Amino acid sequence: MGEALLQKTYTVDCLTKKRVINDGIVPQYYVKNSHDPIVSKEFFDRVQFEKKHRSDAPKIYNVENTKIKKGRYSQYALSRIVVCGECGRFYRRVTSASYKRYHSGESQVTWRCNNRMEYGKKFCLESPTIKEKYLREGVVNAINHLILNKRFIKKRIKKQTAHKHALNNQAFSLKDMMEFLEACIAEIAEFDDIIVRKLIDKITVISKSRLLVRFKDGTEIEQGISAGK
Ligand SMILES: [Zn+2]
Repeated sequence: MGEALLQKTYTVDCLTKKRVINDGIVPQYYVKNSHDPIVSKEFFDRVQFEKKHRSDAPKIYNVENTKIKKGRYSQYALSRIVVCGECGRFYRRVTSASYKRYHSGESQVTWRCNNRMEYGKKFCLESPTIKEKYLREGVVNAINHLILNKRFIKKRIKKQTAHKHALNNQAFSLKDMMEFLEACIAEIAEFDDIIVRKLIDKITVISKSRLLVRFKDGTEIEQGISAGK
């Protein structure tokens, strides 16, 4: 009985720890490499801003957490990496139950700013709603852009890992990314959750037609997407 309880507590602690570590990846990376030309002071400040705002919003975290399965991943690879360019909160996957839309045969899955959904226009005025179809297309295009430049990216990752003394979270991410780039021989044809989890650190929704995709090595690609109708 005592052991079972201990195990339970341990699991909870482990999860909490995991969240803390995950939340720390980006700022830690930026601090360590702040002299690196690919990291702008502006971006670092933005990350700090977001971090602060996220910690100010436990309610929103709870909403996100309900979607986490088995403690490791959310059901969707894009959950917890798509961020609102206006307010810094996460985007959330929204499915419409509207009868009319259901029968139009059109995709009704969209992504919207959590802040906007929870509080209307109180804190976030203009963040766009994006159809999942276009979001996924944009992500695929950005990944393919990375693949097309893989020789250059691989060289840079090698340089980055050469400076790492310990195997921290970022080093693991870089290893994952390197493995993918070594293995891929062509562009990807469709959206893939596993590839997204391996490669992408964050996607900022800049506007209805633009995303900023940040890969785990720090590479950023500003990607145009179809704004739809
Ligand atoms: Zn927002």
